[in-house]
Amino acid sequence: MNEIVLETVGLTKYYGQRLAVDHLDLQIPRGCICGFIGRNGAGKTTAIKMMLGLLKPTAGSARLLGCDCQQLTPQIRQRIGYVTEGHRLIGWMSIAYLENFQKAFFPRLWDGKLFAEMMEYFGLSKKQKIKHLSNGQRAQVSLAITLAPNPELLIMDDPTLGLDAAIRRQFLEGMIQLIMRQGRTILFSSHILGDIERVADRIIVIDKGQLRANCSLEEFRKAVKKVKFSFADSIPENIDIDGLLHCRRQEKDCEMTLVRTSDEQIAQWAKKNNAERYHIVEMNLEDQFIEFTELTERKRLFKWEENQQ
Ligand code: ATP
Repeated sequence: MNEIVLETVGLTKYYGQRLAVDHLDLQIPRGCICGFIGRNGAGKTTAIKMMLGLLKPTAGSARLLGCDCQQLTPQIRQRIGYVTEGHRLIGWMSIAYLENFQKAFFPRLWDGKLFAEMMEYFGLSKKQKIKHLSNGQRAQVSLAITLAPNPELLIMDDPTLGLDAAIRRQFLEGMIQLIMRQGRTILFSSHILGDIERVADRIIVIDKGQLRANCSLEEFRKAVKKVKFSFADSIPENIDIDGLLHCRRQEKDCEMTLVRTSDEQIAQWAKKNNAERYHIVEMNLEDQFIEFTELTERKRLFKWEENQQ
């Protein structure tokens, strides 16, 4: 049976009047790499901070490794790794100094060999000072510092923000190395959907603080479809197809985003409504995510056309 390592029940946060996380119910099984995705301001950082007991929920609760997040003991905290946005490390320390400083918190768990191997892999010398490192190098040190105590549960908030493609790939490989040690679990947020697609086996989607999806990546990839229908005369007034998320009409064509609608249902609907032809538009995860979280009323960001008149 799958053991649940991270669970939230009705997890909610208001900042004043602003609802940032809205009754989040989540269960993350041991041994997965779980991508946590949502648009800017969707509530990811707030949810992560509450899960780690760094921010008090307005309502609801979270449990990590079986322990309430508000009462995480030092022993439980030792089994959890956390990488924050921006990789805040103390500038005056050398990497060697930082390693010794961190090691003191994990006397029996620290894997010095792994840390040294990661430094070598990233081409860093322990003599280097943190303040002289680039953003990407700080991210690499941050990952090594977090992985060296062998965390059972690794939670990362946008860890690859600002990193170039090659360093991101190294970083993701570091994560995969961790997961290959049995029983480790990773939850990480990112806006780079290609990265999520490459390494995650589960995804959680939140939108305006609400949970929209929590499933295997494969399930999500199969579930969200875009279909373009063309009609000889006109588009039907009422579009009554199961799983319709939204529909864009343009003259005699309409493009629908559908969730969990089978190919048979699409074929039947096309026949029943006399569509001349239709095709399923190929999408990568990023396309699917954008369609899935599309605002119902699309506002125009810029008004170039009007300015040009
Ligand atoms: P991003 O992807 O842009 O980092 P996010 O999904 O991590 O966004 P949060 O940072 O959790 O989103 O923010 C969720 C909402 O809560 C946003 O509307 C944000 O403006 C608001 N918020 C976050 N922190 C605070 C705070 N300290 N005080 C007031 N409002 C806040």
